[in-house]
Parts: sequence; structure tokens; C-alpha cells
Amino acid sequence: MNYQTFTLRNFRDIPQLKSFTEGELFDIEVVGNILPFKTNNYIIDELIDWDNYADDPMFCLNFPQRDMLSPEHFEAIAELIRSGADKGEISKKANEIRADLNPHPAGQLEYNVPEYQGEILQGAQHKYRETILFFPKQGQTCHAYCTFCFRWPQFTGLSDLKFATKQTDHLVGYLREHPEITDLLITGGDPMVMNAKNFSVYIDALLEADLPHLKNIRIGTKTLAFWPYRYVTDPDADDMLNVFRKIVDHGMHLAFMAHVSHPVELSTDVVKKAIANIRATGAQIRTQSPIMNHINADPHVWSDMWTKQVQLGMVPYYMFIARDTGAKDYFSIPLVDTWKIFRQAYTEVSGICRTVRGPSMSANPGKVQIVGVSEINGEKVFVLNFLQARKKEWVGHPFFAAYDEHAEWLSDLRPAFGESEFFYTAEFRKMLNINDDSMGIFAEELRKCY
Ligand SMILES: *Cc1c(COP(=O)(O)O)cnc(C)c1O
Ligand code: SF4
Repeated sequence: MNYQTFTLRNFRDIPQLKSFTEGELFDIEVVGNILPFKTNNYIIDELIDWDNYADDPMFCLNFPQRDMLSPEHFEAIAELIRSGADKGEISKKANEIRADLNPHPAGQLEYNVPEYQGEILQGAQHKYRETILFFPKQGQTCHAYCTFCFRWPQFTGLSDLKFATKQTDHLVGYLREHPEITDLLITGGDPMVMNAKNFSVYIDALLEADLPHLKNIRIGTKTLAFWPYRYVTDPDADDMLNVFRKIVDHGMHLAFMAHVSHPVELSTDVVKKAIANIRATGAQIRTQSPIMNHINADPHVWSDMWTKQVQLGMVPYYMFIARDTGAKDYFSIPLVDTWKIFRQAYTEVSGICRTVRGPSMSANPGKVQIVGVSEINGEKVFVLNFLQARKKEWVGHPFFAAYDEHAEWLSDLRPAFGESEFFYTAEFRKMLNINDDSMGIFAEELRKCY
């Protein structure tokens, strides 16, 4: 199958859009100037239900929708397009609007940058003790874009092999100095957009370095959903599968972390073949996804998804709560509703599917799970728990927040029982070096960090 993409430039050529009204096409064009927009022939031909496209999760995942923007933002771009403004003008306005939608990227950028030999380690994040995140420069794009994604401004073109080699040398050096790291999580964009040859530059260097403490290589990717041909008919499909085999044969665990948003992504013959091919290398596929309004805010979608995943030999891993999206109001769900969806789905499946953890917020102090809603001494509370934390002692230590039916993120929550801080707050503040001379200013600063 030949890979064909559609973006703002050529989306009007998509055959299924021929029946769209000019108004519908205009909406896509306006919103597509602000939010990421790229889709491909597989998603269009195999995943979207065109008879119900307006409510179709894959359509909403890939095609910008009018309601994803506020009326003011929408009108600002619409007016420029109507008046025939040039590209530069539109993109200037679009950038202003994007800055307005700024998603507070959970303090990731400022606080987790590792250093090697006095220099910043390019394209890496080391937040949790055992796991380092690595963003290979050549994997900074995807086979299609999710409309909710805010990582896409960092998507760039491919860089040269020389840069890749230098990036890998430094990563290996850093890993040598950090024997506490057991996991390398290769992410993007999507690292599986790389061809096998470029990907093996990174892998060969890691295997040759022979680091006994490095046990697990994880690959975070959306390719099973967006382009499963990557592991079936692409010219270097076999070469990529052989790189996987090489990792496994080296005695490492290869965790293929598949971003799966909806069961329809697991329904085609080609995705089933891709899953089988990946598993045949000895890799283990785990699945994770954010929960999003209009995409998968339904317990049956999740129970169906987990059941299918297990049937296909995948292990359900995480349900995420997302905050860093541009079209926040369109996709967001109150924490209490997210928990209800998780719980209902969890009760509908057997124990074998309950390897999934969540719903979890990747906030600055750590991954915070909504365990549930309870009542203690007459006060309604959220029970929370760190699944992962900046300080390992925080993990598995339940804590409580005052119940709030509108809360959508950790920063919306206050400690229960009239306490002024959560159990970890003082230590967290020290870690971030936030000056607490004025509690008022501190509280504001801290909230921004969540
Ligand atoms: C989620 C995450 C990890 C991996 O956490 P696990 O619980 O081990 O899957 C690592 N680094 C960052 C920054 C993360 O957000
Ligand atoms: S596949 Fe991942 S990185 Fe790419 S657009 Fe979707 S969420 Fe963003």
C-alpha cells in the first residue's frame, strides 16, 4: 500500500470530501491553520465511518472541527482567509492564537533536562529515576496528526545522520553515568516514522555499548493505528522487524508502547497482521491512550478496546488524562466523569484486562491516579495516588483532595480536611527551588507547575 498524506494543502482532493458543503470545507481550513492537520489514505479509507463522519471518533481525531476553537479565534482566522490575506499574515495570527491556547506542558521542558559533560543532553528528558525519555531528531513527526496534540509545533523535518550519531554518543555517555536507569523510552512525534536504517543507528549504538543496567527499550508509537503497513508491506518493514529481533536477541525487553485511541483502530486485517508480525519478534506490545471527549469518552469503548487488545496479545497499560491539548474545551472531561468511565469499563472486563492503570494525570510532581471518590468523616473526597513520582517514596502513598465536580486537573484540586498542602508539597517546592517568602505568590507559581 502506498502512503499518501493529506494536509491543509490538498485536503480538498480527498474523494470522500467531495460531498461536503463549502462551509464544512471552510471550517476545516480555518481550524487546520491553528491545530495540527495531517491524515492519510489508510485512515480515510479504512477507519473513518463516512456515513456518520460528524460523530465519528477517527474523523474528530484527524480532521479539525469548528468547535475546537472559540468563536473569537475561529472568526479571527476566518476573516483573514475571506479577505484574501497572505500566508504570512495568517500564520502570524495563528501563532498568536496558539500562544493563547498554550497548554502548560506540565513543567516538562524546564525541569527535566538532563546534562552530559556540562552540556544539555539534546532531545532527552529524565524525570523519573529508572526511565529516560529520548526523542530522536528524526522521529519528530507522525503518519497523521491527532487534532488534540500539542507536541506538533516541535515537529520538524529530518535531520542528518551526523546529528543522530552525536545525539546517540551523548545518550550512551549519559546512560553509562546513570546506572539507576533501567528503561529507555524512545518517543517523538513518532519514532517509527524513521526508516529501519536510521532507527538501527540508535539501536546499534545502544547494544554495542552493552550497558548491563539497561534492561528495557520502549518505543512510544501511534503507527499501529495510523499506518500498520509499516510492519507489513512498507519496503523496510522486514528490516524494522529485524531491528526489533536484534534487541530481543540481545537479552533486552522490547516494549512496544502502542497509542490506541479506539477499538476501530484494531479492526482491520492489516493491523492484525502488523500486531502478529511485531509479536513474532519477541517484542511485547503494551497499550495506552488519553481519554478524550468526542473520541473515547465511553466506558464500552474502553472495555471493548481492552478486551480486543488482550485477544490480540497486547497488554493494556495506561489510561491517561490529558491537559496539554490546544482544543482543551472540546476534548476535556471532568475528573469525576473520567473516573466513572474508567471504573465502569474496568468492571466490565476480566482480570486479565485489568493490567491497565489509571486514570492518570502526568503532572509535574508525578503521575497521579484518580483512585476514586469516597466519603471520610462526612467529607466527600477524591482518593489520589502516585503511580510514578519525582521522588520514589511518594509512590503508592494515597492522599486526599476535596471533592470538586468541575475539577479537570490536579491544579484544580485542593487538599481535603482543611489541610493547606498535600503531603509532598513542601518537598516538591524545595525540588523546584520555588521561593516561598510569599505564600500567595508561591501558590500561584506552584499551580502553574502542575
Ligand atoms: C510516564 C512517563 C514515564 C514512564 O513511566 P512508567 O510508569 O514507568 O511507564 C517516564 N518519563 C516520563 C516523563 C513520563 O511521563
Ligand atoms: S501520534 Fe502522538 S505525537 Fe503524533 S500527533 Fe498524535 S498524539 Fe501527537
